Amino acid sequence: MNTAWSVEFSRILITLISTILFGLVSGYWAISVTVHSALYIGWNVIQLRTFERWIRKGAPASSAPDASGIWELIVQHIYRTQKSNKDRKKHLSKLASHYHAVMSALPDATVVLNSELEIEWANKTSQAILGLDPARDVGHKLGNIVRDTAMFELLDSNKIKHEIEMASPVDSLRTLALTKIEYGEDKTLLTARDISQRIALQKLRKAFIANASHELRTPLTVISGYLEMLDSDEDLPPSLGRIVNNAHLQAIRMDQILNDLLILSKLEERGYSKERGDTVDVPVMLKNLIADFQKTKIEGTREIELNIDENLLVKVVETEFYSLCQNLLSNAVKYSPEGSVIKVCWSISPDKSACLKVIDQGEGIAREHLSRLTERFFRANVNRARKVNGTGLGLSIVKHIMENYGGYLDIQSELTVGSTFTACFPSYRVQLNDHKELVNS
Ligand code: ADP
Repeated sequence: MNTAWSVEFSRILITLISTILFGLVSGYWAISVTVHSALYIGWNVIQLRTFERWIRKGAPASSAPDASGIWELIVQHIYRTQKSNKDRKKHLSKLASHYHAVMSALPDATVVLNSELEIEWANKTSQAILGLDPARDVGHKLGNIVRDTAMFELLDSNKIKHEIEMASPVDSLRTLALTKIEYGEDKTLLTARDISQRIALQKLRKAFIANASHELRTPLTVISGYLEMLDSDEDLPPSLGRIVNNAHLQAIRMDQILNDLLILSKLEERGYSKERGDTVDVPVMLKNLIADFQKTKIEGTREIELNIDENLLVKVVETEFYSLCQNLLSNAVKYSPEGSVIKVCWSISPDKSACLKVIDQGEGIAREHLSRLTERFFRANVNRARKVNGTGLGLSIVKHIMENYGGYLDIQSELTVGSTFTACFPSYRVQLNDHKELVNS
């Protein structure tokens, strides 16, 4: 038993002994019990009152009641709890101010929004790039302060994580990448990063490639012309003939690369547009394209099966759609063996998008290469690719065309089994042969 309880028991024992002694000496047992009980209870009530006052004041350690026995024990417990609460509070507020300092120092603008999309907290950078003033704008709706359609779209989006690009409200020449992330019960974290430098570098790279490709074309045409002339010269000695022929083929390949790079630059420059294009009679175009393919000697050795929805038309730029079909079909031919079957399907999918599928029975593509196929100059299986004529830019062109139309390219492939390339156009581009536009889904 600890000393506080011993003191308390001694106190009760003394009261008891004194009650008995007084009772024995005086013979008034009832008075003795009543008086001693009243004294003990009264003393405890006074202690209780002192404690209640002390606790009401917040139980400051400096004015802890001078107590003994069980009351001393209670004081100690309260004091200890109080101290550990204080320490915890200190630790938590240190942590909070540390995270606050970290968030404030972030190079990205960071804004915390409540369920009503009102600003709860914003860091310093949000002032510099979003034009927010944390002191003035807290409690106001972000959409009322940054009035931009891109911002409205972002705030309205139901996606758990959504990203958009937007011109800075502070400086329209700067581009921001905004991300909205929902967290907790009903909180939203919005971050904005200045990506102007990245955009400028991208522009520079695109301009450089476009200019270099353009500038190289003229001298290459001249070289190609001379090589073609020499190549067809029958008087050329055979030892030189092989070299000239090889040089001529390489010049043609270089010309193809420059051509594809220029197409890519133009596609990148155009970017996405919802309106661009005219109605293209895809069934007719596909049939002509395949007939042209079958006329050529190598392509003729593969059987091409057609499965076309005759009523399905799409709003695109004809030359771009042709280039897309040609790239997918020529790849299917290039990368599948003689005598194999290539299936071309043009149909409407359940979500009302129009999809072109090119399915081959070729050697397929390893899983680890699938995600890189649309990168510029990427060629899976380099040794095999060297033997096959190509620039490594075809699928990159296809991907850009699809992105510019708001569509997508899906690639499924299995080694030794074959590949399926699916290019889907969104429903708002789809038209039926009777020129009725499909309802947007
Ligand atoms: P390339 O001019 O080399 O054909 P692409 O961009 O069209 O360039 O294709 C990139 C790479 O993807 C090709 O080098 C090839 O390795 C692979 N590829 C494309 N289509 C197919 C296919 N149908 N079957 C197997 N591999 C393919």
